[in-house]
Amino acid sequence: RKIIVVTGGVLSGIGKGVTASSIGVLLRAMGLRVTALKIDPYLNVDAGTMSPFEHGEVFVLDDGGETDLDLGNYERFLSVSLTKESNLSTGKIYQSVIDRERMGDYLGKTVQVVPHISDAIQEWILRVAKAPVARFGSSTKEIPEVCIVELGGTLGDIESMPFVEALRQLQVLVGYKNMCFVHVSLVPVLGSPPEQKTKPTQHSVAQMRQLGLTPDFIACRGKLPLEASAKKKIAMFSSIPKNAIISIHDVSNIYRVPLMMMSQNFPSMLAHRLRLEPYYKKSVSQ
Ligand code: ADP
Repeated sequence: RKIIVVTGGVLSGIGKGVTASSIGVLLRAMGLRVTALKIDPYLNVDAGTMSPFEHGEVFVLDDGGETDLDLGNYERFLSVSLTKESNLSTGKIYQSVIDRERMGDYLGKTVQVVPHISDAIQEWILRVAKAPVARFGSSTKEIPEVCIVELGGTLGDIESMPFVEALRQLQVLVGYKNMCFVHVSLVPVLGSPPEQKTKPTQHSVAQMRQLGLTPDFIACRGKLPLEASAKKKIAMFSSIPKNAIISIHDVSNIYRVPLMMMSQNFPSMLAHRLRLEPYYKKSVSQ
């Protein structure tokens, strides 16, 4: 079973949700069954009590789960019906660990963020990755082959630290070939003449590495397509192959993002990284 983690740097609202959903579309096109998990590092147990002015609309799932609106993107892009397990928050994970502590499950041990919270996060991710999901319009559930995990917020936030640590440990547990990281970063344009600035991305990749995570792909969000010179600079400073740096520039319709990724050869690189080539080759030959 494969896990793809989408993280974000520099600022929030950078397009992690759209990137994660678009990756799902590409995997579906390869004939793979896909599920998704959104991690929201806030303390609310779910989004049901949060102001839509601050947080955007609450998305209600078929099982009544009140979740982040990214779950709506996932359902539309992946054509699946998700459950409330697919939205994990700090509140939810702490609640589950504290409930177990009250039941005496930890047998007198001191309950700590590492290992108890970080283990509970890994168990949750693996549970969602294995849980059968129903396709829209079908009542039969299928076991997914790939799970896309989106880590909300920005890497380096205090709130997301236990999740970052859990993801680092999870890659060790499931193995390098089964889990990869796509980091979404910002490339702003400044100055006269206008220049695409790569420093925020360089810093955010450096920070990601400090936290023990290595990005396999960098998705650069910006107004215009990423220029070759900017790509080269990011590749050099972050030690990532040039073609693994993907431009996710602004488009009038977010359904174009998967096509934009395809035009940059992203599906084949992703398939190679996660040893999914047979699926990719079959889909191309059809
Ligand atoms: P995050 O998950 O990082 O908070 P989202 O994926 O929710 O960010 O995207 C934030 C906003 O930016 C959304 O309104 C989304 O439609 C828009 N957006 C994301 N990517 C693009 C893009 N390539 N072109 C235009 N709009 C985009």
